[in-house]
Amino acid sequence: MLRLLIGGLVSALVFSACSRDEYNPAHDYFSFANSGQFVTHHLELDLEVDFDQQTLGGSAVLHMERLDPGATIIVLDSRGLQISGIQIAAGGLELKAVTFDVGETDPVKGEAIRIYLPEGFHNETEFLVKIEYQTGPDASALMWLPPELTAGGEHPFMFTQSQSIHARSWVPLQDTPAVRMTFDATIHTPPELLALMSANNDPLAPRSGEYHFSMPQPIPSYLLALAVGNIWFQSFGENTGVYTEPEVLPAAAWEFADTQAMLDAAEVLYGPYQWGRYDLLILPPSFPFGGMENPRLSFITPSVLAGDRSLVSMIAHELAHSWSGNLVSNATWRDIWLNEGTTSYLEARLMEVLYGKERADEERLLTYQGLLEGLETVPAEMQALAPEFQFGDPDIGQDGLEYSKGHLMLETLEAAFGRDTFDEYLAGYFKHFEFQAITSEQFLDFIDTRLLQKYPGHYSRAQIEQWLYQPGIPDGAVVPTSSSLEEAVAIAGAWSSGERAVAELPAEDWSPQAMVAFINALPADLSQQQLAELDKKLGLSMAGNVEIARAWFIQVALRKYRPAYHQMDSYLNRYGRTRLIKPVYAALLANGEDSGLAWAIFTKARAVYHPLTITAISSLAWSFGQQQAGDGPESGSD
Ligand SMILES: [Zn+2]
Repeated sequence: MLRLLIGGLVSALVFSACSRDEYNPAHDYFSFANSGQFVTHHLELDLEVDFDQQTLGGSAVLHMERLDPGATIIVLDSRGLQISGIQIAAGGLELKAVTFDVGETDPVKGEAIRIYLPEGFHNETEFLVKIEYQTGPDASALMWLPPELTAGGEHPFMFTQSQSIHARSWVPLQDTPAVRMTFDATIHTPPELLALMSANNDPLAPRSGEYHFSMPQPIPSYLLALAVGNIWFQSFGENTGVYTEPEVLPAAAWEFADTQAMLDAAEVLYGPYQWGRYDLLILPPSFPFGGMENPRLSFITPSVLAGDRSLVSMIAHELAHSWSGNLVSNATWRDIWLNEGTTSYLEARLMEVLYGKERADEERLLTYQGLLEGLETVPAEMQALAPEFQFGDPDIGQDGLEYSKGHLMLETLEAAFGRDTFDEYLAGYFKHFEFQAITSEQFLDFIDTRLLQKYPGHYSRAQIEQWLYQPGIPDGAVVPTSSSLEEAVAIAGAWSSGERAVAELPAEDWSPQAMVAFINALPADLSQQQLAELDKKLGLSMAGNVEIARAWFIQVALRKYRPAYHQMDSYLNRYGRTRLIKPVYAALLANGEDSGLAWAIFTKARAVYHPLTITAISSLAWSFGQQQAGDGPESGSD
């Protein structure tokens, strides 16, 4: 995923207070499933997509194996599902109804489904579990968009977002990245719409209202994905292309035309692409993240349609997940850095191959600056790459440090061993652990054997342990540099101190990344007059590039620059992508005067936000409650 929440000024993180002795790094604290006793190998879905009721309904069949001969109760994850019956069959015999119960609701984990195996099944090791169900009214993975919130305005649209622990809100299953399964699915939709999944999509499938899917590679549950809408396709190359609404298709096909070249470059560096096709699905603006690496079909925010290909690092990121994350997964949400930190590093490498070192270094430096900001707000206990994470919400977790700190460690290792050696090591790592989920401890043992001991004297196990288990940045980290960004930062200083006139700012020479660095470097004591001059010269309040707009509106909110509040309000209503809007809300809350305004904007705009975006913004240490007498989002319902 690319969410990068860093830059938020306030974070409400909950972390474990328990000692290392008690913490089990191999245990998934965010799943009820007893996946050490039973494991799912295959899933069959048959679901009807009901836009009127905003539900998915039908059945899920889990092909399960009993690992523990003494175990007689299967525990699955669910959230808000309405289950009408569960049946079990073994040895090709008929399905039989079985007893089950659904536990109390945990606000983060949802409900455990406990299925009691009848006497006749106590000696079986392999069986089918069929669950008939319907999704609940507030399914956290599902976004239902009325036609007016789509580009075309005529057809409804729905999509899922299963990461981190939301697959359980649309499929009852073992919702942990440690379990991988293949799947088949039949999806029923209104006949004029197309359904797509993280599976073998057929660009030429006739619109029939009944779509069949198969996913032959085993995936963790968080990569289960479905989208339905008025969706069409355009090819980029032999096995890449883009799906989206027809109104967006020409712009998307132009913006992401380098996707096939990115895929080819990634295979050269990290080994064969193992998933068949690689397509993109550009979603409506409510999509809560930058991108989601659903296998074979990355889900992408339309906010990166900048018109100049300046934000295509998003595609490099999601594509890179085909190796880091999808091929080698984190065993639990505590090890998410293995997924996101590695992907952030790979993303920069792909950007360097396609667009050159200068641009890649600009993005590396911005990521590093995000790390420095994150270290100011994330509690020390959550700053380790592999923290003792067992309470709180895995969607909030380390607030982005899992990306930027993991990235910096890999850059440091690359510098220590040399690029060729490190590339060879990484390709070997992906091969060794392909289609597995691993812990940080497995990573540590592997790198110790395959890199540290093989090339002694460059980097020690103790140094890597410092990254994994200690807060902050270890000594000797290789900090990225970018002459173009550093120049933009120097000019920000010269302009703000009056050494340089606003008319002399060389903005037309700057990349969007340099413009962001310039805005981020503006000193705190600028006058309102200076902000007005700057906005007039650079057109920041009207910026079409969302990264520039994001950087600017954070400053607008922090500095209470009210002439741009109208445009800031429009910006907060344009996209539901959490990275773009959460830090602006945080800045409004932090400026001491505008929590009421933030609440008013949020109340209006939340109709276009995904449930996960609403949760993320609500996770700010919201001070509305003080001003609004308990009327803040914590007490509101979604
Ligand atoms: Zn990612």
